[in-house]
Amino acid sequence: MYDLRGHAASQSGGYGDFGFGGLGEIFDTFFGGAFSDAASRAPRQGENFRLKTRLTFEEAAFGCTREFTIRRTEACQECNGTGCAEGTSPLKCTDCGGSGRLRRVEQSIFGRFSHVVRCPRCGGTGSIITVPCSHCKGTAQVTVSRTLRTQIPAGIDNGGQVTLRGKGSLGAHGGAAGDVHIAVEVEPHEVFSRDGLDINCELPINFAQAALGGEVAVPVLGGTTSIRIPSNTQTGKMIRLKGKGIQEAGGKRCGDQIVQVRVVTPKKLDPDQRRLFEELAKILPTE
Ligand SMILES: [Zn+2]
Ligand SMILES: [Zn+2]
Repeated sequence: MYDLRGHAASQSGGYGDFGFGGLGEIFDTFFGGAFSDAASRAPRQGENFRLKTRLTFEEAAFGCTREFTIRRTEACQECNGTGCAEGTSPLKCTDCGGSGRLRRVEQSIFGRFSHVVRCPRCGGTGSIITVPCSHCKGTAQVTVSRTLRTQIPAGIDNGGQVTLRGKGSLGAHGGAAGDVHIAVEVEPHEVFSRDGLDINCELPINFAQAALGGEVAVPVLGGTTSIRIPSNTQTGKMIRLKGKGIQEAGGKRCGDQIVQVRVVTPKKLDPDQRRLFEELAKILPTE
């Protein structure tokens, strides 16, 4: 600043209006009120909401509906978002001539600064509400509690998110309404675990079933199914049930259920069982 002033002073030979007027214009260009004013009047998206919900394994697999209550800002319905009482309309602001902006010139020791400010009388809207709507007090918007009912799509996984576009608060200056984001947490299941669209589960069987094979009931999503265990089945054997996994919402993809067999040693034996195992022990080869 000092250097510029010194330079201007030496050229014009004094602190004349001419030199400082030029500086004022430069400042208007660089720091112009018009810039910050434009930023404050720029379209701005309304408030977003971040919610959470917990689903059971089955709810996530099959999809479900959930309700959420939020307090959001909406356009006042009484006045259709005008802020004016019924039968009245806004008048053009006489202070700014309806532009919503005023040019201010300030004198300082550095020269004249000219900048554009928002018209304080009309708040930059360019119009004056003569009779405010009694419902919104002329603000044209209201804050209300709304219950949103939404479908959580089938196949959503832990950590997934559902977004309800435009269900948040009203935007400002023509900006879009905010969004509602719902973070999904899926509770662990006592039998199933998930790997993408596939479902894993363990199938405990006893020595006789493992050795002889046979029909065994297996839990599947929404019920049970019967599968055939081949004879001489070992612990760790994997059996794939095609199409018994998670069905993707709206998609054709469907996962499988992968059953892992586990041969369970009896925790205790009654006298009859013990006698039979002892008989068996005499004739089975040792490993
Ligand atoms: Zn005005
Ligand atoms: Zn209103």
